[in-house]
Amino acid sequence: MSSRTPFIAGNWKMHKTVAEAEQFIAGLLPRVYSADAVDVAICVPFTALQAMVDSTRGSRVEVFAQTMHEAAKGAFTGEVSAPMLSELDVHGVVLGHSERRQYFGETDKALAQKVLVALDAGLKPILCVGETEDERERGDTERKLRHQVQEGLERLSPEQITEITIAYEPIWAIGTGKVATPEQAQDAVAFVRALIKDKAPEAAPVARVLYGGSVSPDNAAELLALPDVDGALVGGASLDPESFGKIVDAAVHIAAS
Ligand code: PEP
Repeated sequence: MSSRTPFIAGNWKMHKTVAEAEQFIAGLLPRVYSADAVDVAICVPFTALQAMVDSTRGSRVEVFAQTMHEAAKGAFTGEVSAPMLSELDVHGVVLGHSERRQYFGETDKALAQKVLVALDAGLKPILCVGETEDERERGDTERKLRHQVQEGLERLSPEQITEITIAYEPIWAIGTGKVATPEQAQDAVAFVRALIKDKAPEAAPVARVLYGGSVSPDNAAELLALPDVDGALVGGASLDPESFGKIVDAAVHIAAS
């Protein structure tokens, strides 16, 4: 792991009622109480945002939304805007998760605007990028990552790029139990950092790049120890405070070593 502060973010997807979220956070807070060297976030459904913001106030756990619309307001039934999230004291937002791209038609063009709007509203964006299994087999991983990173950062100034987190999430590894090998993860994350450097050399040493895709307490230490990996975006294993806490612990140990 690098000198950047490690960042472990749990993406709950469409899981947990408010009551279940409260139960989770009661279990997590004592586990991460002394994880000073690590930034921790939970990315929760809209319905649990307010409750989680209230229950984590004063703790080291930040609360992120899982998506947002790029417009501030308007006739977009079912959508939520950046000012609506900021008003709740939400800290950040996941943008371009592969499930949003695949099932809800989220485009690179819209994402370029969303990243800008999130930063303008004081929200920390986690921009997700990654290739399908077919793309990897065809040797198209770098082409795909180049396209997604360049489009995602297109509208940002170099100063804004320093504030962004990119999560490299190979789509074939999300929710499949099929984790990338350390070599695959390191190569792709280093490539993403090189793309950041092309666009904003001063941002490359600062912007964080995470790995996501079937991270678990069993494989976290190995992945988090990779030189370019600054943390993890965790899906399934973030639903249980014990397993999520163990992943945070792995980051704490590596940061201390
Ligand atoms: C994710 O939802 O971003 C993710 C990586 O899921 P999982 O850890 O379950 O593969």
